[in-house]
Amino acid sequence: MPERVVIIGSGPAGWSAAIYAARANLNPLLFEGTIKPEMIPLGQLAMTTEVENFAGFPAGNIRAFVESAVDKDRHYNLPPAPDHKKDGEYHYAVQGVELMELMKQQALNFGTRVVGDDIVSVDFGTKPLKLTAAGGDTIESHTVIIATGARANYLGLSSEESFKNRGVSACAVCDGALPRFRNQPLVVVGGGDSAVEEATYLTKFASTVYLVHRRDELRASKIMQQRAFDDPKLEVVWNSQVDECLGDDEKGLTGVKLKSTVDDSSKTLDATGMFLAIGHTPNTTFLDGQLDMNEKGYIKWTQSFRTNTSVEGVFAAGDVADDNYRQAITSAGTGCMAALDAERLLAEIGE
Ligand code: NAP
Repeated sequence: MPERVVIIGSGPAGWSAAIYAARANLNPLLFEGTIKPEMIPLGQLAMTTEVENFAGFPAGNIRAFVESAVDKDRHYNLPPAPDHKKDGEYHYAVQGVELMELMKQQALNFGTRVVGDDIVSVDFGTKPLKLTAAGGDTIESHTVIIATGARANYLGLSSEESFKNRGVSACAVCDGALPRFRNQPLVVVGGGDSAVEEATYLTKFASTVYLVHRRDELRASKIMQQRAFDDPKLEVVWNSQVDECLGDDEKGLTGVKLKSTVDDSSKTLDATGMFLAIGHTPNTTFLDGQLDMNEKGYIKWTQSFRTNTSVEGVFAAGDVADDNYRQAITSAGTGCMAALDAERLLAEIGE
């Protein structure tokens, strides 16, 4: 018997779709993915620290709630609770992993079946739709919700490649606390909210953080910009692009060569770390071009205010289709929409 709904991806879009589909008695099957360089289970939020802007999660003693809600056998996944106290009480926003574990728990509570595998190929030219997992299983389903998110971009320099995991990273939160980055100068590349967030985070460990941006103004929101400008350990290096990563086999990255984007000048910054925060690429390789994409490679939503794609029965939710908002809460919203869209289609076709 074909499945009614298969969900691919385990970020806020995937879990929200699962919660809605499960509560609609559609018995969803969710492919959570495995750890890979481009994607990890629970998605990009699993690589972030505190999430201050997800409605419904004001700062407080979040950990007490998380531990009461999430199954004990998954507590080992939780990061240490931040040590922020106000008037003797814990007062911190929910952390990315905590939020995702809560969403996963909610989906499990309503009966979502979770598979710890990747979907590696699809055949959307048949009905029911066909999916193949990395482990070899083939799954048939009347509807599929794609919620595979997007991954961090790199500059594409060969010197950058050779220092990956030896100084070059795209995740400050994952790697920032490593000994090689402590009390050392670090570089963050980019000018958006992610770059400022990563740079600010890294000031906890670094002697100085250079935020290298190719223009003379940041793209980040005003509040984030102010945070950067107010931080005494953070220095913005304007109109500059990383031209080469410097270092050797023994020490890994020791610095970066910058070239100006406005004249012919160049300079070198000593740094034991370079963190990329220059945007994302949607995780769509497994689709092998079977859905229409926009010019940036994101899945196209083909109807306004719907999550339909170019193939009937296939819906897309979250960052894999959204190169505009890209927020946890908008991803969760489109996950809900995708489940409702799938439910309506299933009703129409009598499934
Ligand atoms: P983004 O807003 O697209 O910013 C990417 C930055 O990288 C831009 O400043 C861009 O420069 C720069 N860049 C791109 N390609 C580059 C290259 N090849 N070389 C050098 N620089 C390059 O991406 P993001 O910062 O990841 O943010 C994505 C979305 O998530 C946004 O909507 C953001 O608001 C949101 N977000 C929110 C929070 C928060 O609210 N706490 C935190 C993180 C992210 P240009 O400016 O010159 O184009």
